[in-house]
Amino acid sequence: MAKYYDAKCRLCRREGTKLLLKGDRCFTDKCAFDRRPYAPGQHGRARKKLSDYAVQLREKQKCRRAYGLLETQFYKTYERATNMKGITGDNLLSLLERRLDNVVYRSGLGASRPQARQLVLHGHILVNGKKVDVPSYTVEENDVITVRAKSKEMLHFKAVREGNASRILPKWLTFNADELTATVVALPVREDIDFALQENMIVEFYSR
Ligand code: SF4
Repeated sequence: MAKYYDAKCRLCRREGTKLLLKGDRCFTDKCAFDRRPYAPGQHGRARKKLSDYAVQLREKQKCRRAYGLLETQFYKTYERATNMKGITGDNLLSLLERRLDNVVYRSGLGASRPQARQLVLHGHILVNGKKVDVPSYTVEENDVITVRAKSKEMLHFKAVREGNASRILPKWLTFNADELTATVVALPVREDIDFALQENMIVEFYSR
């Protein structure tokens, strides 16, 4: 599957916000966005008045990059959201939150979404007792996400168990650190998602 290989911190600088793609480093003074909070490139510091289209594009790119999706995957998720009942923007965010890699990140099993994605791809994660190595897998209410028995001995998961990777849990998840188990107690709604994003701009972008 295609993947973004370029420097992750450039994405934060381009979008003008911390997308937290590098785990603990994002909270240290090594954060590139904190050091250089302007867009990368020769004209990065130039002040520009954004057109309506540019504002919509930036919101879409910010969301897509935060969740680590390429354009095709992101658009497919958007299409899925349009076919659901309710507000498309809310549906889109809910579907993105319900991705397995995001749940692994939100629960604290992964330090960042890219790391969570890798943990899933490498087969360390079980959903309801069965191995699922598809990061885009959509979790349902009452799903139980845990770590494969053999993988629990990894240093990374030992650190999670000892609380070194503590995270503020969203309301729709519970997490048992001793068991390394997260449970989806409800499906996420917009109010549960702490992402400063104008999702209506994404809908306008794709509705042009
Ligand atoms: Fe973004 Fe994290 Fe890099 Fe800071 S350290 S620029 S938050 S990816």
